[in-house]
Amino acid sequence: MAEMELWFTEQQTPDLGFTCKITKTIYTAKTKYQDLAILETKQFGKMLVLDGAVQTTIVDEFCYHELIAHVPLFTHPNPKKVAVIGGGDGGVIREILKHEEVEKAYLIEIDQEVIEASKKYLPEISCALDDKRAEVIITDGIKFVSENKNMFDVIIVDSTDPVGPAVGLFESNFYQAVYECLKEDGLFVAQTESPFYDQDLIRNVFHSIKSIFPITRLYLGFIPTYPSGLWSFTMGSKKYDPLEIDVSKIKRIDTRYYNPELHKALFALPTFVQKIIE
Ligand code: SAM
Repeated sequence: MAEMELWFTEQQTPDLGFTCKITKTIYTAKTKYQDLAILETKQFGKMLVLDGAVQTTIVDEFCYHELIAHVPLFTHPNPKKVAVIGGGDGGVIREILKHEEVEKAYLIEIDQEVIEASKKYLPEISCALDDKRAEVIITDGIKFVSENKNMFDVIIVDSTDPVGPAVGLFESNFYQAVYECLKEDGLFVAQTESPFYDQDLIRNVFHSIKSIFPITRLYLGFIPTYPSGLWSFTMGSKKYDPLEIDVSKIKRIDTRYYNPELHKALFALPTFVQKIIE
């Protein structure tokens, strides 16, 4: 008798699915905020899924986590206090703590169950959450940012797609609060979805940030399990321009995607992406 095959599909657009063969369902839960699953996939290893959307996988997580962490941290000359909004799997905290000058990295996550499941089932990604330089605060990132002023050198918004509690993380009021939560020379980066499927979102976010921050830059990376593979990140900065830094001064750290040669190249945009943010 043929063995039964199990497949998981993320519906990436109303007309497109991304399908992986599953060898095991490791864990599922309905949290206060979302449906959570950890699956063992044949192609990408363990996979964290929230509300049917792939968040991270063991095989390609380094692409996203390195891109969202090292570009801002190597743009700021002395990042000591850093906050991650969302990011409950811990991958961004792991990358941040590779920077020796970081004294404290805060994880501001709304859903404690994402952190607990990641610690238990994805230790490769969550391994730095118990580091003494890391502090986890369970609260809504929108509330946290609006209640704290002049506090961080760098803020990284590692959110889910703009649904449920993450909707407000893509709005202008939030970016204004992020501006005020940063120190006078602070900067921030947010993941801003796919240039193929989310052009209106990228345009709106870019122009919202541009109306608040003196320097606004968009950069791209490739993340195989995210919709279309091509992914965008938007930076708002009060003082430091990622295109003006001296890349010869970037320290070599242990990475698989990011490197000093790539730092400025990531900001070179294909014409169709330039047009989105014109
Ligand atoms: N890298 C992933 C991606 O781009 O799809 C995101 C990973 S991380 C698991 C996203 C986290 O953001 C989730 O754990 C979710 O609970 C959290 N989140 C969503 N809205 C939030 C909010 N308003 N405040 C804090 N965390 C939030």
